[in-house]
Amino acid sequence: MPKQVRVRFAPSPTGPLHIGGVRTALFNYLFAKKHGGVFYLRIEDTDQNRFVPGAEEYIIEALNWLGIPFDEGIGKEGGFGPYRQSERKAIYSAYADELINSGWAYYAFDTPEALDELRKQDEAEGKTFIYNHTNREKLDTSLVLSKEEVQKRIDAGEHYVIRFKTPVGETLHLKDIIRGDIKFETNLLDDKVLFKSDGMPTYHLANIVDDHLMETTHVIRGEEWLPSLPLHELLYKAFGWEAPQFAHLPLILKPVGNGKLSKRDGDKLGFPVFPLEWKNPDGTTSSGYRENGFLPEAVINFLALLGWNSGTDQELFTLDELVQLFDLERVHKAGAKFDPEKNKWFNHQYFGRQNNEVLAKELSHVLLEKGINKPVEYITEVVGLVKERATFASELWDLSDYFFQAPASYDEKAVKNWKPETAELMEQLITVLNNTLDFSSANVETTVKAWMEENSIGMGKVMQPLRLSLVGAMKGPHLFDIIALIGKEETIARIRKAMETL
Ligand code: GLU
Repeated sequence: MPKQVRVRFAPSPTGPLHIGGVRTALFNYLFAKKHGGVFYLRIEDTDQNRFVPGAEEYIIEALNWLGIPFDEGIGKEGGFGPYRQSERKAIYSAYADELINSGWAYYAFDTPEALDELRKQDEAEGKTFIYNHTNREKLDTSLVLSKEEVQKRIDAGEHYVIRFKTPVGETLHLKDIIRGDIKFETNLLDDKVLFKSDGMPTYHLANIVDDHLMETTHVIRGEEWLPSLPLHELLYKAFGWEAPQFAHLPLILKPVGNGKLSKRDGDKLGFPVFPLEWKNPDGTTSSGYRENGFLPEAVINFLALLGWNSGTDQELFTLDELVQLFDLERVHKAGAKFDPEKNKWFNHQYFGRQNNEVLAKELSHVLLEKGINKPVEYITEVVGLVKERATFASELWDLSDYFFQAPASYDEKAVKNWKPETAELMEQLITVLNNTLDFSSANVETTVKAWMEENSIGMGKVMQPLRLSLVGAMKGPHLFDIIALIGKEETIARIRKAMETL
């Protein structure tokens, strides 16, 4: 039986989740769901210096808001916990020891000061210091000390780290689902630190041990981790474990130029790069999609297409459709440009599809602030008429104010639609409206059009000044829908006001 698919999102809680991280989480989610597998969250917090309070809660809240919750993780035990690496501290040292015993790792006693000195010396000669096979036997390591000597120094509490002993002169044949076959020379690698004397593993060791223990079948992560792939494959080999399959997602690029979209770009360029708002330690705020009025469905749809396509022209996908269609083979290698306008376009598409009752609540808040009191049924009908024109809830008031108050002024450019003969026509129209009993949109439309036809009055002659009177500008939905909603009395009052003013 094939193994159950298990994929993880493994962020380090060093701040708010960047939109690139959200895309990684989403692709993992889609892959897991497509294969009936498990999407789990692991918090990689072994680097206590970079730990930021609140970041973990933020990540969880963001995934929930986006509608891509994890199946297993903090607070959702699935038999593989704990899911915070800081709580798994006791697990890792035995694995570091195992590598020492099998000759895949060694102790290095060089102090940070000694290494600094070596770095400086190399720099002075125009070289870059690398800790690797060329010098490891000349440095202060267990490779050149007796077992007893090593033990004595550890027992004496000397500073040490455990480094990976990269094999010399091997060509690695690596496989990436997105990038295909990759060849890599081990001689180009440095001997990375796996474990520190404070008892904490580094990212590399903890990540491999946990992916193994948590039975991860596929590692889907950002391209920035591709340089770690050779070491990770070697670590699996060193432990004698079967490696998961790897897929490195393309970078997300700035809207202009070729640089990577950074955490700082968002507010600088005028769009959010974080799912939720985040309060920075310096008191400033980084804006979030949620607080900016984006809908989670729109953010998901937009992100799904950053680096992936379905192979068709379809652009709008529900989460379920994405699950059905998603496929790592269709993820591109090339970086994906972040297009803030497209992002808004998606929101516009989803905004208009929302339920009128839900939108009425949004508009009600604004009305309340303005002291406008209208029945909820009325507000619901209004949003039903204008929602297709909006991208964000914050635009609803500007798109619908004339449903709640007569225009205070008339759009300058539109005023030219009021001609010398208009007042006379409007007077006649008022009589027609007064005589109309059934004030439904359809009936008023039929009645007014019949009157115009009988009297050979051109459409524009009536409709344009009428719109100007009711709305104050040449905008808005179907005019007779507006008339029916604001009612006979208000319609006539607004026409009279326009006649007096214009
Ligand atoms: N903790 C790493 C990060 O912050 C995880 C990288 C990986 O998925 O292996 O992105």
